[in-house]
Amino acid sequence: MDNKLWEKAVEFHGHACPGLAIGFQASILAKKVLEIHNNIEDEDIVCISETDACGVDAIQVILKATMGTGALKIDYKGKQAFNIYNRKNGKSARFVLNNIKDFQSKEERMKYILSQDPSELFTIKNTTKDFPARAKIYDSYICHKCGEKTAANAVDLVDGNYICFSCREM
Ligand SMILES: [Zn+2]
Ligand SMILES: [Zn+2]
Repeated sequence: MDNKLWEKAVEFHGHACPGLAIGFQASILAKKVLEIHNNIEDEDIVCISETDACGVDAIQVILKATMGTGALKIDYKGKQAFNIYNRKNGKSARFVLNNIKDFQSKEERMKYILSQDPSELFTIKNTTKDFPARAKIYDSYICHKCGEKTAANAVDLVDGNYICFSCREM
């Protein structure tokens, strides 16, 4: 195991926990399976995560699929499953965590996860969604109701006026 990389993930996340260990091992496995090399640039690797929990932080650190570059998206399904795409070579896979036996403590669970070969922890399936498009710079509009500037992909045209999603739901 790459301790330095683990420490980097822990530092970013704020604590060491089983969830982070899951994201860490998924990232390590994705690097191998999708032939992700160390010279990754912004947006080369995209992750659509089916969980919004701790593990996504490891993915942001290790695969550089970050929220801010639009390379990390959450498609919440309540599953420890990560759809990971490599734009450099077109490879993609969905990494689904296998059932893990119960442990007395989080500490033990985390240690167990980190001690396993990543390929033993996950089942590799086909991604549920196609390759995501690169982040777009959207035009924006002023919402007719609240007056706030809103990206074009988050407004509706209602009776000829742009209404943001927040105002539409009110
Ligand atoms: Zn955590
Ligand atoms: Zn509004």
